[in-house]
Order: sequence, then C-alpha cells, then structure tokens
Amino acid sequence: MTYDVVIVGAGVAGCTAAILYGRAGLRVALIEKHHNISTHKVLCGHFVLAGTQPMLRRTGLWEAMVEAGAVTGHISRWTAAGWFVPEPGLPQPISLRREKLDPLLRTIAAGTPGVDLMLGRTVTGLLESGGRVAGVRVGDEEIHARLVVGADGHRSPVARLAGVTEDVAPNERFGWWAYYRGVISGGPGGNQIWSLDPDVGILIRTDDDLHMLVAFPAKARLGSFQADRAAALERFIASLPDAPDLSSAERVSKVIGTNDYPCIRRDPAPRPGLVLVGDAAITGDPTPAVGCGWAFRAAEWLVESTAPALRDGSDPAAGVAGYRRALRFVEAHDRLGRQDARARPANRVQRLITKAAMRDPELGRRVYLFSMRAIPVSAMVNAGTVLRALRAVMRR
Ligand SMILES: Cc1cc2nc3c(=O)[nH]c(=O)nc-3n(C[C@H](O)[C@H](O)[C@H](O)COP(=O)(O)OP(=O)(O)OC[C@H]3O[C@@H](n4cnc5c(N)ncnc54)[C@H](O)[C@@H]3O)c2cc1C
Repeated sequence: MTYDVVIVGAGVAGCTAAILYGRAGLRVALIEKHHNISTHKVLCGHFVLAGTQPMLRRTGLWEAMVEAGAVTGHISRWTAAGWFVPEPGLPQPISLRREKLDPLLRTIAAGTPGVDLMLGRTVTGLLESGGRVAGVRVGDEEIHARLVVGADGHRSPVARLAGVTEDVAPNERFGWWAYYRGVISGGPGGNQIWSLDPDVGILIRTDDDLHMLVAFPAKARLGSFQADRAAALERFIASLPDAPDLSSAERVSKVIGTNDYPCIRRDPAPRPGLVLVGDAAITGDPTPAVGCGWAFRAAEWLVESTAPALRDGSDPAAGVAGYRRALRFVEAHDRLGRQDARARPANRVQRLITKAAMRDPELGRRVYLFSMRAIPVSAMVNAGTVLRALRAVMRR
C-alpha cells in the first residue's frame, strides 16, 4: 500500500496531523496500536492551555470539543503575592477528559476524506529506500509513504527504530490526581492553580460536571503519598490557601498519576523522510499542562510546512526544515520548563515579576499569556519586563 503520509499513533498529535493532511488533499494512513477507537491516554490532565485556542478555532476542533462537553474558562493563580485573576477577554483554556477527547479526534480523523484510520496495528519496523525512510512495517505488511510521521508518544517506538538519541532531563516533582463531583471552589473563578514554590496544586473544571484535583509536590514529599494516595491528595488540597471545600464532594475515579516523569527531547526531523511530532519530539514537564497544546499546534505547523511539497510531488525537505524552525517556539518554552521541573524555589527575578504582575495590569496580562504559552519566551523574558517589574514594585 502506498500513501502520501504514514502517521504512527492516533493520539492528539497524530489525529490532528491526519485531519489536516487529509483536508490538504493528501492520502494518509493513520496507524494506531489499540484496537478500540475509545482507548484513551489515562495519564494525562487534558487541560489545554489558552495559547492553543486560535489553532483549535481555526481547525474547528474547539467547537467539536465544546459540543462533546469540554469546559472553557480562565484559570486564577495563587502565589505568595496573592490571587492573580485574569481579566475578561484574554484567551481561555479548554478541558475535555481524554476518554472523550481521544475518541472524538479519532472519529473526526476517520471521517476526513483521504484518511485511513487503521486500528489494532502496531508499527514494528521502518522501510528504507535510497537513504530515506520510505514507510513502515506492520507485522508482515509494508506501508509505503513519502513522509513517515512518528506521533507515537513519549516512548516513541518509531524514534527507537530509527536509532534517534534522547536528551533526557530530570523532573523533581511527582503528580497525582482524581476526579470529584460536588466540589465547592474556595478561590476565584472555576479553575485555580496554586504555585506554592516548589509544590503545585491545581483545581480544574471539566466535562460531566467534574472537578479534577491535582497535586504536583516536590519529590521530597514522595513518602507521604505512598501509603494512601487518596488521603494524601485530599490532605494536600485541604492545606492550600482558599482550599476547595470537599465536605460534600464524592471522588468518582481512582487516584491517577506518576512518581517520575522525566522530560525528553528528540530531533524532530532525525532522518530524511521521517519527522517526529507531539511527545515523540518534545515530552515536557506535565506540571504546567503544556503537552496536548504543543501536540495540537506542532501538528498544524508540520502540515502547513510539508503539505505543499507532498501535494505537488516535490522534495518535502524544505518544508521539514520549516517545521523544525516553527518548533523553536516550543523548544524555547521547554528549556525554561526543564529548569522549573527541577522544583527549585523561584529566583529573585521570578519573585519580582510575580509580585509586579499583581500591581501592573499589562505585566499581569503578559505573565498570564506566557503561562498559557500564548506568547514566545522572548516576549516575556527580556530586560524590558524586568525594568517594568522594578518600576511597578517601586511605585508603591
Ligand atoms: C501526568 C501527566 C499529566 C498531563 N497533563 C496534561 C495536561 O493537563 N494538559 C496537557 O496539555 N498535557 C498534559 N500532559 C501531556 C499529554 O498527555 C501529552 O503531551 C500528549 O498526550 C501528547 O500527545 P501525543 O499525540 O504526542 O501522544 P499520545 O497522546 O501519547 O499518543 C500516542 C499514540 O501512539 C500510539 N502508539 C504508540 N506506539 C505505537 C506503535 N508502535 N504503533 C502504533 N501506534 C502506536 C499510542 O497507542 C497512542 O495512541 C500530561 C502528561 C502526563 C504524563
């Protein structure tokens, strides 16, 4: 079988790329190892930051998610300087549990002309021709394509098959959460994050009238979460300033999470004919909830960069280089994310900007957009920001 593009992995990145390549008029094989269209990623908080909103709206995925029950709304942030509540009009995040998001994206992909969703097929090898990756092997079957896209998650078997090296950085926090019904919020707005420096707590409203309560403590507290995770999670949440009231809430899920989730980076275009997207290229720290947003956005950049050449039959190499350039936006954020994943106390400049953001609305807006990954790192981390912060703090 021959396609324009083979995509390995029907998660967020793979489905999005398949939908957009299909809409661009290309023939796409979307290969997923799970048999059931409803199988979903359990280890995921699914809070998609506001920086992804324009892309989701452009592609119609925002409306599809809202129709499936997704909840939108700003997130207020607690720091030692108090609550920061974003002003109305700023872009909003969106939350839809993966048990709904994954089947939704797969269904949209499968219904897109040109896309063949192949469930229950595990990619076990790469095909090579003339020094290029030219397709994939699924058991005895060969599927040829001009571009192979590894969208197969943080372990990326495709990257392993291609011998791609990994750049791994430690994550000094661990994370556990559960879903509750009947939570009464104690802080401002529907969604809240507590930056306790270094521990992080999160309350997210999501579909089905549920709240997700999350603890991302520094690893020094691992011991306290070992014996009874549900009790430890609820103790952690109860200790937060303006903590939500759980007295009439019911836990409706298991406690889900991980004790260790290192950050991984791989070359997004490691071989001619092969690209990586989503977690396969950059697996960030889960604490700031960036991964799904990056997967959506990187898939769009990939398709925008490579579809024209794939359509007219020319070499996609220049387009792949364009994709690599677009991904620098994520890489710059990820560099800072890796520092934050070390769970060290905020430095003086960070503390200064946090404090100033409470006094200077423009700075507050910039900090919010940065935390939502809506602006490049360079728009936040610069001398102008520090000077503005100093002025704001000295004014009062
Ligand atoms: C604890 C935790 C909390 C998180 N919370 C958030 C959050 O709140 N917000 C957010 O935006 N992100 C969050 N993330 C990150 C998010 O889960 C990932 O970034 C996102 O799932 C990446 O999407 P993806 O499509 O690249 O990979 P995945 O969603 O992992 O999809 C990969 C797909 O590839 C398939 N596959 C793998 N190997 C093969 C093979 N050999 N053949 C065929 N198919 C294969 C898999 O079955 C899977 O369907 C969190 C992550 C963790 C660990």
